[in-house]
Order: sequence, then C-alpha cells, then structure tokens
Amino acid sequence: MMLLLFLGTMALSLLASWRVRSAYNRYSQVRASSGYTGAQIAQRILDLNNIRDVSIHAMPGHLVDHYDPGQRRLVLSEENYHGTSVAALGISAHECGHAIQHQQLYGPLQWRMAAVGITQIASQVVMWIPLLGLMGGFFPYHLVITIMAIGFGIMMLFQLVTLPVEFDATARAKKVLASTGAVSAGPEYSAMSKVLDAAALTYVAAFVSSLAYFMYYILQMVGGRSNDE
Ligand SMILES: [Zn+2]
Repeated sequence: MMLLLFLGTMALSLLASWRVRSAYNRYSQVRASSGYTGAQIAQRILDLNNIRDVSIHAMPGHLVDHYDPGQRRLVLSEENYHGTSVAALGISAHECGHAIQHQQLYGPLQWRMAAVGITQIASQVVMWIPLLGLMGGFFPYHLVITIMAIGFGIMMLFQLVTLPVEFDATARAKKVLASTGAVSAGPEYSAMSKVLDAAALTYVAAFVSSLAYFMYYILQMVGGRSNDE
C-alpha cells in the first residue's frame, strides 16, 4: 500500500513535470510577433500596475523563474529574460502576476507566505521520521502516525492555498498579454496558454500527492484505533 502510494505520486509528479518541459521546449521555439523580451514585458506589466519597488533579474538555469516576495525580486531564467518566445512572455507575465498579488495583498498569497515556515518544518518531519526508523517500535506507533498525519495535513493545506495563487497569476498573465498585444490572438495565444496550463497542473499534482499521503495516514490512525478496541 505504502509502496503503491509512493510510486503513484512519484509517477504523477514525473508526468506533470515532463508535460511542462515538453510544452516549454516546444513553445520556447515559437517567437511572439510583438518582439518583446520576457524582461521587457515584465517591466511593462509592472509599470502598468504602478509597481516601482520590484526589480527584475536574470538567473542562470532552466525554468528557475519565480517571484521572491521577501526581496521584491522578479527572477527570470536567462532564457526567458532575453527570450522573445511565447513561452518566455507567458512565464514572465505569470511571475508578474505574483508581484501584483503581493501589491494587492491578495488573500491566498498572504496565507501561503504565512505558512511557508511551518510547511518547511512539516516537510522535514515527515521525511526524517521514516528515515530514522521511528515508524517501528521506539515511539508508540499511534503517536508517530498522528505526527505524520499532521505533517502531511499541513503540507496538503499549503498545496491547497497554492492552487488559487497559481491559477490567479496565470489568469492575470493571459489577460495582460492579450490586452497589451504582447501575444497575438490565435496560435500565439494558444501556445502561451499551453505552457502556463501545463505549469499549473504541476501544482495540482503536488496537491493530489500530499492529499493522498494525508488520507493514507488518517486511515492508518482510524484503522489503528479500531484495532485497539
Ligand atoms: Zn507561479
């Protein structure tokens, strides 16, 4: 059962990340006719939203793009920073979506930021408990199972609030790329959408995986209790 869960969630996350890579590899070859680079459209979107305190940086590496709310930095991979493909524009605009959420104090982003610390602790705990062999013997089994359930519960809630954050950033990106004409309607728009939709699915996969582990330990707790009685 545990092995099935492990292999199933592993396969799901590999499939999701493979889909992102293949969509990205394909559509990073499709140049947007507007000629904007990722950095240029990011600056334009920040300007349109009167965001003056976010700086845009290029970083070596593949798909390392992210928005850092602590440092107010929008980090784009060099490929997307300099690139003029529909994939580069889509990803740059998506990261701007997070900067806009931050500026507007968008609720789910606030919750997500508040939960980062405890989620990091939870993910360490659920990794170390099985590695240290605490599942067998030393501590009472039901206590260990309860800790695992709480740990995965925290991770599951974190992945759950990540979903509106990611879907909202993607919706904002699509809208602004269409309204500024950075990505033209038709094939360019649908190619850009495919990259962003594939990326959103990786977050759905992460949520489903954490939910599956959480349910597994809840079932173990319930099962363990009924065995005691
Ligand atoms: Zn995002």
